[in-house]
Amino acid sequence: MPSFYDDNDDLRWYVDRGIDWEPIVRLTEYDYKAADGFENVDDAKDFYRDLLGLVGQFSAEQIAPRWRELDESHPTLRDGQVIDSAAVTEILDQLGQLELHGLCLPRELGGLNAPLMVLQLNTEMLARADVSVCAHAGFHGGMALAALMYSVLEGSTTFQTDPPAITKTRFSECIEQILAGEAWGSMDITEPDAGSDMAAIKTRGVLGEDGQWRVTGQKMFITSGHGRWHFVIARTEQTDQADAFAGLKGLSMFLVPTWETAADGTCWPSSWGLNRSWATTPRRRSRSASRTRPRTWSVSGARASSICCY
Ligand SMILES: Cc1cc2nc3c(=O)[nH]c(=O)nc-3n(C[C@H](O)[C@H](O)[C@H](O)COP(=O)(O)OP(=O)(O)OC[C@H]3O[C@@H](n4cnc5c(N)ncnc54)[C@H](O)[C@@H]3O)c2cc1C
Repeated sequence: MPSFYDDNDDLRWYVDRGIDWEPIVRLTEYDYKAADGFENVDDAKDFYRDLLGLVGQFSAEQIAPRWRELDESHPTLRDGQVIDSAAVTEILDQLGQLELHGLCLPRELGGLNAPLMVLQLNTEMLARADVSVCAHAGFHGGMALAALMYSVLEGSTTFQTDPPAITKTRFSECIEQILAGEAWGSMDITEPDAGSDMAAIKTRGVLGEDGQWRVTGQKMFITSGHGRWHFVIARTEQTDQADAFAGLKGLSMFLVPTWETAADGTCWPSSWGLNRSWATTPRRRSRSASRTRPRTWSVSGARASSICCY
C-alpha cells in the first residue's frame, strides 16, 4: 500500500526521534489538563503518527495518481462563479471528510487538536502529491486558525480554566463553516500596483458615520479567492509620507464574507459580492455538505470587522 509517510525515512526520523514533542504536546493539551485530552506525550505521539499515516496514504493513493488530471483540469468561470475542477472538488471534499480542515483547531471547537508541527509534516506530503491541492487545502484550516488567533489576540475569545477550554470566540461562524467543509478563506493583500511593496496598498477602509466600515479597492492573484471568508488588508490610517518606514503602519485587516446564507441553505452574494471590483467571484454552495467520519484511527478522546463593502 503506497504511503508518503511510510516511504519517507527522514520524515519518520523527525517524528520518532528528531522532534522534542513534550513541550509541544504540553502546550497543545493545556498542560495535560484538557478534558478528553491526552495525558502523556506517548499517547499524543501515537495519535499524530496515525494522522500522518492517514495523510501519507491519502496523498500517495488518492492525490498523486491524479497529478495529470489536476494539472490539466482548470477552474472555469460560469455565470460569474468560479467552478473548481471535479478532481479538486472531490479531493478537497475527501480532505474535509477526514476532518483535516480542523487538524490544528482546538478540540472544543470541533478540531483534531493537533499541533502546527503535524500540519507542517502533512504539508510536505500533500505538496509532494500535488502543490496546488496542498496550497488550496491550506486556505481551509489555516484561515480558520488565523481567525481564531486574531480573536485570541484582540481579546474577543473567552476561556474557562477548569478544565481549560475556549468557551466562545468571535469568528465562530467562519470557523464552523470551514471545519464543516462548507467554505474556506483567503488572504487578500496583492493589488495591481502593490505586490512586493505591500506599503503601496491603495485599498482603503473608511469608518462611516453609521458605524459601518466600507472597503474600496482592487485585489488580484488571490489564492483560493473564490471562498467565502476574505481577510482583506486595507489602509485605514494615512501615514507620514516623509517617513520611508511608515508604509506598513496604518494597515488593517477586515474579514469580508463574499456571500450570505439563509437557514435553508440558499446563498446570495453579500453587498461585497454585488458591488465588488475584485479579481475573485463568489461561490454558491449548498450547506448540505455532510460531515462523515471515516476516521480509521482511535482518539481518546486590527480590526477584523463584519463590514459593508462596495
Ligand atoms: C502562486 C501565487 C499565489 C499567490 N497567492 C496570493 C494570495 O493568496 N494573496 C495575495 O495577496 N497575493 C498572492 N499572490 C501574489 C504575490 O504575493 C505577489 O505576486 C508578490 O507579492 C509579488 O508581487 P508582484 O507579482 O506584483 O511583483 P512585483 O512586486 O511587481 O515584482 C516584480 C519583480 O520586481 C522585483 N522587485 C520588486 N521589488 C523590488 C525591489 N525593491 N528591489 C529589487 N527587486 C524588486 C521582484 O523580485 C520581481 O522580480 C500570489 C502569487 C502567486 C505567484
